[in-house]
Amino acid sequence: MPIVRVALDVPLPTLFDYTVAEGIAVFIGQRVIVPFGRRQMAGVVMECVATTDVPPERIKPVAQVLHDSAPLSAGLLDLLRFCSDYYRYPIGQTVLSGLPARLRSDKPVISKQVLSYRLTASGAALDLEKFPKRKVVQRRILAKLAEQPYNLAQLKALSATVGAQLKALISEGWVEQFASTPSLALMELPANRLSPQAGKSLVVPLQGGELARGQDVTRHIFDNAHTLTGEQQQAVDAVTAAQGYGCFLLYGITGSGKTEVYVHLIHHVLQRDGQTLLLVPEINLTPQLENYFRSRFPDVNLTSLHSGLSEGERLHNWQQAQQGAAQIVLGTRLAVFAELSALALIIVDEEHDSSFKQQDGLRYSARDVAIFRASQRGVPVVLGSATPSLESYHNAQSGRYTLLKLTGRAMAEARLPEVRCVNINQAVMHHGISENLLREIGLRIARKEQSLLFINRRGYAPVLMCTGCGWLSGCKHCAGKMVLHLKDQRLRCHHCGYQIRVPHACPSCGNADLIPVGSGTQRVENVLQEHFPDARILRVDRDSTRSKRAWQTMREQIHANEVDILVGTQMLAKGHDFPALTLVGVLNPDSALYSSDFRAPEKLFAQLVQVAGRAGRADKPGGVLIQTAFPDHPLFRALQTHDFESWAESQLAERKMAGFPPFVFQAMLRAEGKQENEVYRYLNDARTAAVALGNSMETRASVEILGVVPAAMPRRANHIRAQLLIQANNRKVMQQFLREWQLFLDEYPTKMLRCSLDVDPLEY
Ligand code: ADP
Ligand code: ZN
Ligand code: ZN
Repeated sequence: MPIVRVALDVPLPTLFDYTVAEGIAVFIGQRVIVPFGRRQMAGVVMECVATTDVPPERIKPVAQVLHDSAPLSAGLLDLLRFCSDYYRYPIGQTVLSGLPARLRSDKPVISKQVLSYRLTASGAALDLEKFPKRKVVQRRILAKLAEQPYNLAQLKALSATVGAQLKALISEGWVEQFASTPSLALMELPANRLSPQAGKSLVVPLQGGELARGQDVTRHIFDNAHTLTGEQQQAVDAVTAAQGYGCFLLYGITGSGKTEVYVHLIHHVLQRDGQTLLLVPEINLTPQLENYFRSRFPDVNLTSLHSGLSEGERLHNWQQAQQGAAQIVLGTRLAVFAELSALALIIVDEEHDSSFKQQDGLRYSARDVAIFRASQRGVPVVLGSATPSLESYHNAQSGRYTLLKLTGRAMAEARLPEVRCVNINQAVMHHGISENLLREIGLRIARKEQSLLFINRRGYAPVLMCTGCGWLSGCKHCAGKMVLHLKDQRLRCHHCGYQIRVPHACPSCGNADLIPVGSGTQRVENVLQEHFPDARILRVDRDSTRSKRAWQTMREQIHANEVDILVGTQMLAKGHDFPALTLVGVLNPDSALYSSDFRAPEKLFAQLVQVAGRAGRADKPGGVLIQTAFPDHPLFRALQTHDFESWAESQLAERKMAGFPPFVFQAMLRAEGKQENEVYRYLNDARTAAVALGNSMETRASVEILGVVPAAMPRRANHIRAQLLIQANNRKVMQQFLREWQLFLDEYPTKMLRCSLDVDPLEY
């Protein structure tokens, strides 16, 4: 009887053998249901073998072979095997965690039908010239459907509110829904459709408010909006000339037109019937980016994969990618495991962004997996950033990656913002805001321009203090402090979520004089409101944008210039294009300068470049004001001269001296538990084993085992946390070491502990 090895979602580093009844065809990569213990589980067939070590009386048959989804390709299984080995995560859990939830369940999946929309007879009879002008989106939908039916995904390119507007049109009886199968939805798009009447129906506003016209390029409509600059063209040419694998670092200052380079590269791939995987950071920008790319390729099947989708949508989109129907797959880190039968190009936008690293379960870096995947498939991969990670920059310097530079802003009139520092020790301060900054904001209000104040902490104040005894509002479950949220009169721990009402008196000495120390977004908002009573202030942080709709509404307000001052956390730093914004104030960046995390300055630099990039993107020049106690710090100097490269060189020199990545490779063993002695016993035993192993390995000099130390947050939610760092100057040696060390770790009884091994950790 044939035997199959199946990957199952269980925390064991093995595959499981099952028999298959004669006559039943099973393919590698296929989903099967198997008995496991007393349960039934879904698994994926990884291998077919002739013999097994499982005794004949114990081996069980596969319960069901599922044909609801095409088998995973050998290539994808290889990628998952590689990740399991590299990130030291059980093979079964690695394979299953790469799949949409529906495919992990032991129920057969039913593919969702795609709904399409068309005009009814009365809808077709409407005279659009007479249609109310203010119903912009409805007009656009009607105009588009006058060409042919479209599905929702295609219509979404018109506006974010398409869903609601369609409902309105349906209830008026002008538009109707009908079901089309996914393949039909594709076939509706004739390969050689003529371009629609220029200017009439396919005029779709782009993000920046400019207009794009559909243009016919042999197979798909490509909005060829700009003539590329020389540098952009060189970048496109370098990538399209690549034969097989090549890793390109596209380093381009904000506004230099990296996105335009992506668009041209995708166009090139589409002409050759290839699929593009476009990875973007895990942020609330995905829908906007999606709309943007849809608008540039109006008739191309673009599908998205991110955590904001429902399970059904995620499955549907994943299958679109698998079948090759999706020509562009835009997604966050999890999309790196999407099956793409005709993958021809991978783009990782904002490659330095830490959200590409998963911080639990399979702790992978989607950027690194993307690079591996590209080399495995023999396709080019493009890493884009205005502030490349030092790892990538180093690889570009050493020639492993090809460096492509965009040094100028794409639009001639757009200038880089002027960056200035305010020394907070010399300036007059009003509750954390300097007089200089207040003056600048006042000027902007007078000119009807917008200002953005960037502060890295939400809430009112980071801590409440007693003036009598010095008591600080610590969290009773964590080593951290509870943040004061004045609006709802609460102290809240941002680490474990614990919250209490603000005490009326000091819990320690009874003194009633408790004062907030430091500033958060809410306090800045209050101070500004007092100072500029007539200004319209909008606070954008995780508290004010809890609902999905809220953020969408806020964006619209900002674009409509109904806001004078924006106060926000890093949520606001990324990618948004606010044309009226001409001033960015940075309130308290200094803690990163003396952080124990050696990556903190790198992250701060990237973040500040990003916020600075918000200022003056359109025709108005922008200014950035940074409040700091160290105005002469090299980091701020480099920001002022817009000199990422010298900054990166000096950082790399420091890292090399100190023996930090990218000059060494790291792995972090973490443990947490209720009992301090158990946590430390485990880590110390692991360390002893590591030292012994290091001594026995032939290349013993190159593995360094550091000491067991408390984590940066040594106690969280009543768990004691500690860690052990391993370093090696060679990736292969590190991998070999970890493989052997794992044998010890797997054997160690850790029932009461949560332990994890993090390869190439980003957090300390
Ligand atoms: P980045 O992604 O590097 O920050 P974008 O791709 O968003 O930059 O481009 C910034 C602006 O410049 C956008 O408004 C874009 O439409 C415009 N742009 C890009 N390339 C060109 C070009 N070759 N000619 C004119 N405008 C361009
Ligand atoms: Zn007190
Ligand atoms: Zn807490």
